[in-house]
Amino acid sequence: MIDLSDVAVIDNHCHAVDAKQKRNAATWREAFTESHDPQLRAEGATDTAYYRRLIHAMATFYHVRTEGEVLEARDAQSAEQLVGTLFRDAEIGGVVIDTGYPAPEKAMDVAAFTAASGSEYAALLRLEVTFQRLVAQHDSYDDLIDATRDVVEDARSDGFAGFKSIVAYRTGLAIERWSNEAAKTAFTRARADLAATGTVRLGHKPLLDTLLHLAFEAAAEQELPVQFHVGYGDTDVDLRKASPLELRSVLDEPAYRSMPVVLLHGCWPYTREGAYLAAVYGNAYLDLSYGIPFLSVGEMTAMTRAAVAVAPFGKLMYSSDGTSIPELHWMAAHDGRRAIGTVLGELVADRELNRNEARLAGERILRDNAARLYGLARAL
Ligand SMILES: [Zn+2]
Repeated sequence: MIDLSDVAVIDNHCHAVDAKQKRNAATWREAFTESHDPQLRAEGATDTAYYRRLIHAMATFYHVRTEGEVLEARDAQSAEQLVGTLFRDAEIGGVVIDTGYPAPEKAMDVAAFTAASGSEYAALLRLEVTFQRLVAQHDSYDDLIDATRDVVEDARSDGFAGFKSIVAYRTGLAIERWSNEAAKTAFTRARADLAATGTVRLGHKPLLDTLLHLAFEAAAEQELPVQFHVGYGDTDVDLRKASPLELRSVLDEPAYRSMPVVLLHGCWPYTREGAYLAAVYGNAYLDLSYGIPFLSVGEMTAMTRAAVAVAPFGKLMYSSDGTSIPELHWMAAHDGRRAIGTVLGELVADRELNRNEARLAGERILRDNAARLYGLARAL
C-alpha cells in the first residue's frame, strides 16, 4: 500500500454543508439514501456497509461507542465547529462546490465555510437550476436564448470555475440538436407548466438540450470544465440513459474539444466505460467519488482499480460528492486516500510502477489534476 495520508486533497466535486445541521436521528439517517421509499429511508439506509463504517469511524473520532452517543457528540456542535474539526482532520485543502444544491438559503455562508474549513474554494454554476430560473423570467423564446447566452458567456469573469449539469436526471445524457421549431414548442410547454403549477422542472428535452449547447459553446470558448452527473444518483435518474457512453455526440463534437468534460461519481456502475472515455478523449476526465455512491471499501477499491487499469493518471480526480453534512466530505477523504493507496500499491507489487511513480500518481489523483483544471492556486 502507498501511504497517501499526508496528501491534502482537493475535493473536485462536492456540495455545501447545511447551515442548520440535522438534529434528530430520523432526519440524519435520511442523508444516507437516494430512495423515496419510506421503509428504505427509515431503516434500509442505515443497514449498509457504508453507514456502519461511518458510525464506527465517528465513534473512534469522538471516543464513544454507540450510534446514539455519536449523534449526541455531533449534535453538541454548530455547523462551523463540525466543519472546522472534520475538514481539518481530513486535510481537505480545496473544494469545488456545486452552488445549485443545496439551495443557497439552506447552505452555510461561503465566508463562514471557508473560514471554518480552511479550504480553498471554487464555485460551479449548476446549469439546469439556472435555466429553470431563466425560463420563469422570460415569456419569449428569443429573450430566453439571449438571457442564457448572457449568463454563460461571462461565467469565468463572474467567478465560476466551471459548469455542472444534471441532465442525466432530467432527460438523459444523449444530448441532441433540435430544430428551432421543436425547441420553441418545448419552451411553450415549459411556460404552460409554470403557469399551471408555479414551478418548472426542466424535463422538456428539445429545450434543455438546446440551452445546454449554448452553455457548451460558452464553456469551450472560456476553456471551462463541465461536470456531468453520470450513473448513480437521484431516484429520478433513468439509469439506462445515464451511461457515459450516451455522451458520445458531445465528446465527438470538434467545437467542444477545448471544453474539459468531467464524468462524475466514477460513473458507477459504469466505471469501466467512464475510464475508457478518459483514455480515448483528450478532454474527458473521470471523477472518482468516495462519499456518494454509498459503497463498501471493497467496491470503492474495485472502482479505483477499474479506473487506473486503463485511464491515464492525469485524467483521474478525487472527490466526495459530500452534501449537507460534513461527515460525508470527511470520511471520503480518508477512504479515498486508502482506496487509491491500496490500488497503487498493487501496481507496485505487479511491477508496473516503482514506489516513486506510485506516490506521484496518488498526489495527482488526490490534488494536482484538480488544482490545474479548476485553477486552485494555493495547491499548485
Ligand atoms: Zn454532486
